[in-house]
Amino acid sequence: MQLAAITGPRACEIRDVPEPRAKGGIVKVKLLAVPMCTEYKTYEKGGPADCLGHEAAGEVVDAAGSTLRRAGERVVVMPLSPCGLCDLCRRGDYIHCQHTVNTLQACASPTGVATYAQYCLKQDWLCLPVPEDISIDHASMACCGLGPSFNAMQRMRVDGYDTVLVTGLGPVGLGAVVNGVVRGARVLAVEANAYRADLAREIGAEKVLDPRDPEVLEQIRSLTGGKGVDKAVDCAGVSPAQRLMVDAVRRRGEVAFVAEGGEFTLKVSNDLIRKGITIHGIWHWNLTDAPRMWETIRRAGPLLDLQITHRLPMSRVQEAWELQTSGNCGKIILHPWD
Ligand SMILES: [Zn+2]
Ligand SMILES: [Zn+2]
Repeated sequence: MQLAAITGPRACEIRDVPEPRAKGGIVKVKLLAVPMCTEYKTYEKGGPADCLGHEAAGEVVDAAGSTLRRAGERVVVMPLSPCGLCDLCRRGDYIHCQHTVNTLQACASPTGVATYAQYCLKQDWLCLPVPEDISIDHASMACCGLGPSFNAMQRMRVDGYDTVLVTGLGPVGLGAVVNGVVRGARVLAVEANAYRADLAREIGAEKVLDPRDPEVLEQIRSLTGGKGVDKAVDCAGVSPAQRLMVDAVRRRGEVAFVAEGGEFTLKVSNDLIRKGITIHGIWHWNLTDAPRMWETIRRAGPLLDLQITHRLPMSRVQEAWELQTSGNCGKIILHPWD
């Protein structure tokens, strides 16, 4: 099979490698839609790396000894290789599991962990069947495209009465705008890149403000009757955006940290106690929310076709990475068989 590998700074190649071997409850999935995430940072630095990606949807081609999945089923593959046995896994919060399974060792397989590839291996319970009326590209948005911000909104119970602020409109932040709009919330956003700001407006953000404007906090307050937003999601992962999120939320509001990175000082009295805010740390979504995730994807429909700005064959991965480094794109989906 083919997979994408980074060979040096801004250099990559498509490599021929042996196909993965499924075994027991670990199935082999033919990958049809591979959303691109933060791998472009490795591409810029130069790697080398040949185990790229953690988002994908496709079709089970070898169910091995699985009693849950069968060959021919369309599935979206969830990230990581959690144990499936601990309390966190059993409650659906597998993303926080501390007992990783070594998939390659368990299957004695030479490959199967990368998703920038034509096939991967995955534990059967982490392969979620895709409802018939949902396309494979849209299903793949259940990964990072919509996933982290979906869980942020689940945890904060965002609904049509809320004004939600999204800081940072990369592919995850654009997904937060989609999630907010689908729930009927009023969405405000903060982003410096003009392409992404325009895209967020098209998706349904009421206002996109420029973080370089020294009046940005005042603008958010004046858009919310002086109070601040009800709820906020940081998808920027940089300290000034995180500070702005905490400052922009109203008293008794809620904030969610979704993007990795950044650090800033939290003042216990002024930020927490006196404001009475609730803070959530969010990585991915809880598996028991799958029916609601599928319904979100259904309702988002055409908004997802705005958020997905490019669909490219995996052979053009270099062009896709260059596009990501420019910032002038939303979510890019690779098609490994085109
Ligand atoms: Zn576990
Ligand atoms: Zn991702």
